[in-house]
Amino acid sequence: MRLMKYLVVTLIILLPGPNACYHQNTSRAVIKVDCTKSTILKNIPGSPNITTVTSHCKDYQFDPDSLKMALDIFVQEYADQFVTSKIAVREMLKNLKIEVSAIPRTVHAAYGINGKYLKGNIPVAGLALSKNHIWVEVKTSQIWSSALVHELIHIIIWRKNIVHGDPDHEGKEFSGWTKEHTKLIERINKILLDTET
Ligand SMILES: [Zn+2]
Repeated sequence: MRLMKYLVVTLIILLPGPNACYHQNTSRAVIKVDCTKSTILKNIPGSPNITTVTSHCKDYQFDPDSLKMALDIFVQEYADQFVTSKIAVREMLKNLKIEVSAIPRTVHAAYGINGKYLKGNIPVAGLALSKNHIWVEVKTSQIWSSALVHELIHIIIWRKNIVHGDPDHEGKEFSGWTKEHTKLIERINKILLDTET
């Protein structure tokens, strides 16, 4: 299950020292923002009109240049995996709004990566809210540990399927998501980890 995996990853990150606190980390992949001092809505440089914004006035978001790098890696790897052009992949991400926050969210129901339906107050690391809008939680000081890549896959499937982004992932109720998508997410996040993004 995806949530468990992220919890495990977060625990490993936070273990190194008793004073470890990712909010104090100065890695440039995540920045602190305050809407009373500067704009929280930012364009991603060189992207097909992709914007990023925080959920709250005082919050954390991905540094636009780091986000650009993550998106470029995503486009390259997706194009390689599914034998398509980078232009076509970029087109599938056009006008996307990436909302980011360090403040967690829960939903009343969700599907795990294997299609298992879960009910209750479920903490989520990311959400595809519409085919133009994702929400991603800042988990650590780097993008690889977030659900960004996972949610980008939902967006591409949603824009292809028109009516849904395959909420049950590898489950059988909705179509679109395959094991190749899951493996691609793992591979891209590994590249982001290796490039300290
Ligand atoms: Zn999902």
